[in-house]
Amino acid sequence: MDIQKIREDFPILKREINGYPLVYFDNAATSQTPKQVMDCIVDYYSNYNANIHRGVHTLSQEATDLYEASRKKIQAHFNAKKDYEIIFTSGTTHSINLVANGFSALLKEGDELIVSALEHHSNIVPWQMLCERTGAVLKVIPMDENGELKMDVYSELLSDKTKLVFCNHISNALGVINPIEEIIAKAHAVGAAVLIDGAQACPHIKPDVQALDVDFYVASAHKMCGPTGVGMLYGKEEWLKKLPPYQGGGEMIAEVTFEKTTYADLPHKFEAGTPNICGGIAFGAAIDYMNNIGFDAILAYENELLKYGTEKLNEIEGLKIYGVSDKKASVISFNIEGIHPYDIGTIVDKLGVAVRTGHHCAQPIMDFFKIPGTVRASFAFYNTKEEIDVLVAAVKKASMMLS
Ligand SMILES: *Cc1c(COP(=O)(O)O)cnc(C)c1O
Repeated sequence: MDIQKIREDFPILKREINGYPLVYFDNAATSQTPKQVMDCIVDYYSNYNANIHRGVHTLSQEATDLYEASRKKIQAHFNAKKDYEIIFTSGTTHSINLVANGFSALLKEGDELIVSALEHHSNIVPWQMLCERTGAVLKVIPMDENGELKMDVYSELLSDKTKLVFCNHISNALGVINPIEEIIAKAHAVGAAVLIDGAQACPHIKPDVQALDVDFYVASAHKMCGPTGVGMLYGKEEWLKKLPPYQGGGEMIAEVTFEKTTYADLPHKFEAGTPNICGGIAFGAAIDYMNNIGFDAILAYENELLKYGTEKLNEIEGLKIYGVSDKKASVISFNIEGIHPYDIGTIVDKLGVAVRTGHHCAQPIMDFFKIPGTVRASFAFYNTKEEIDVLVAAVKKASMMLS
């Protein structure tokens, strides 16, 4: 992997922040966009902009072809059996809400749902809302001090009352990779369906939904070099057929009269209204871009960055890393004893380093560790060890100033 050449693809990496070269370590919140994806967006609006699935005119057909070709690209990337098992959404949050809403019709009082303790709020709140609507009960797989799920407790929580299990593939707050193969197999053994939140995994690995035998898998384009406001839901055909539509409107109908409306076939049943057409096409371009580099190379390089960053940060006095599993993505969540994470984030920003501070939309994890939040540095394949050196020096400086 030629990192310097790859960095040329990302114009924003040439920016200066407060007089220093930008060091962008907030990749777990959103990734940067390569010019190949920007070119795709400009090309779409310059040459193909039209509404899809409706017009007989050439432009509309070309836009439709590009959009549907992108769906096929996503299908191939995730190894879905059918292209209509891929639903375009506005992102992970939308995808989860779509499934949670659909399950309103399938649950009854006393049914049980299981969530992991490591979830992003967007994989907690929609399910709590579902429980309020249906009288279903939410159970939690606890975690240990290392940020790993207690799988023995998970086994005890499962029963024939369990209807659905949801868990992220990789935790956005700690970077821990969850044992989703085991989670899926055990859920299926009691007849429960599983939704995996892949928002944080897809920037690093290429999931195979058939090999995983997962029922639903969701992701956002903007965390994997694509634009914001677009994402995907993979659902097994049998499940997508069972779930009622989420939103009503244009595009999702077969026939409408004031007496009765019948719904369109998959995937259109779940795609009401004019979608983010350009975003959907650019999502495909982002997947092409990442596959051209190769996920094996990306993961191997990011693991090097993770190892290097972990070693260097651990040399700082009073620094504690949360999530110390040996199965981790390139995310380091840490605090320095006696210093508020926000103060560290503010000082390193003055030196050009972008990290995230706070609860990372995962307050239950922070409550578990009894902390207000962490500083989170998350690395992508376009980052370098030299940038990690800049981070470490900046954190040392912040630590000196604040203690
Ligand atoms: C970012 C993230 C989400 C939410 O994604 P949106 O694009 O904001 O909808 C959900 N889960 C995890 C694990 C995430 O990292």
